[in-house]
Amino acid sequence: MPRKFDVPALVEGVLAGNRSAVAQSITLVESKLPAHRPLAKELLQHLTSPEVRGSREPAVRVGISGVPGAGKSTFINAMGMRLVEQGHQVAVLAVDPSSSRTGGSVLGDRTRMGELTQTEAAFVRPSPSGQHLGGVARATREAMLVVEAAGFDVVIVETVGVGQSEVAVKGMVDTFLMLAVSGTGDQLQGIKRGILEICDVIAVNKADGDNAGEARVCARDLSIAMKLVTEATAGRRCPVLTCSALHKISLDEVWAAVLEHRTWLEEHGGLEHYRSEQQVVWMRSQIEAALLDSRRANETLRSLTSQLESDVRAGRLGAMDAAQDFLAIYATQVASFGWE
Ligand code: GDP
Repeated sequence: MPRKFDVPALVEGVLAGNRSAVAQSITLVESKLPAHRPLAKELLQHLTSPEVRGSREPAVRVGISGVPGAGKSTFINAMGMRLVEQGHQVAVLAVDPSSSRTGGSVLGDRTRMGELTQTEAAFVRPSPSGQHLGGVARATREAMLVVEAAGFDVVIVETVGVGQSEVAVKGMVDTFLMLAVSGTGDQLQGIKRGILEICDVIAVNKADGDNAGEARVCARDLSIAMKLVTEATAGRRCPVLTCSALHKISLDEVWAAVLEHRTWLEEHGGLEHYRSEQQVVWMRSQIEAALLDSRRANETLRSLTSQLESDVRAGRLGAMDAAQDFLAIYATQVASFGWE
């Protein structure tokens, strides 16, 4: 029996900031059951209506990434508590497609952010499991809309330093913060150039005790690397700071850099414009994913593809002609696709 959801009650509960309604709504948007999709859509429509949006300041959306052990959960816990003390309501969501493999989600785990999860003004939700990155990214985007409608004014999306998921998170947040750690030997080891390019703020964590000097050296090296990246992309210079999540050193400075980036966005096209461009990119990726899926799922197109591939391989058909043949048949099949 699929689980039942009472959408009007959920809408009312979420708008009233009720935690249980928020949790249930996220369960609904995460659901992979086709029967739940229209309900999730209806829920989101209410939660993002102009009246609701008009009554809320846009939340600060921050992505936080870093290799396992970099100190993400320690940082989010400490930073989250600080923000709560300042009167903010903080939601933490996680994007961790690897949890599909292990069956359990590590990121956003309640035990890792003990204090924050005990706090009334905070909400911590692990990554949906059992889904590929595309599904996790969609669910997280929608979960973000749920928590924002519930009044959370800071949304932190946590992810691991492995590449693809960072790009997905970059596409849903305003500011992308990377937590780096100094290491022995190659300081930049493990930080891929592509990741540096998407960073808006970098903080070298664990800058405490005997490690403080090394962390400063790492920050300087990263700063030089970022200068090159900035020159190549002609973008804004990403600040590189040091901090200690464990000893709560320079956390205010890191947050100030996050807010400074937000101000920069406001001054360079505006936050609203930035977010609507993210929506356009998201729409394009959804179309591409749906086209790819439909091509794979449709029996006629699958066998057509392999037939055309062997014709091209054997030289019976030119590649362009084969592509045109494919598109002609594709167009006849589109009507039968099961768009949700
Ligand atoms: P995550 O895997 O990125 O979430 O990292 P965790 O927050 O779980 O931290 C991994 C380990 O590093 C834990 O033992 C933390 O106590 C430790 N740690 C985190 N932040 C700091 C820090 O600022 N300084 C020091 N010395 N240790 C830290």
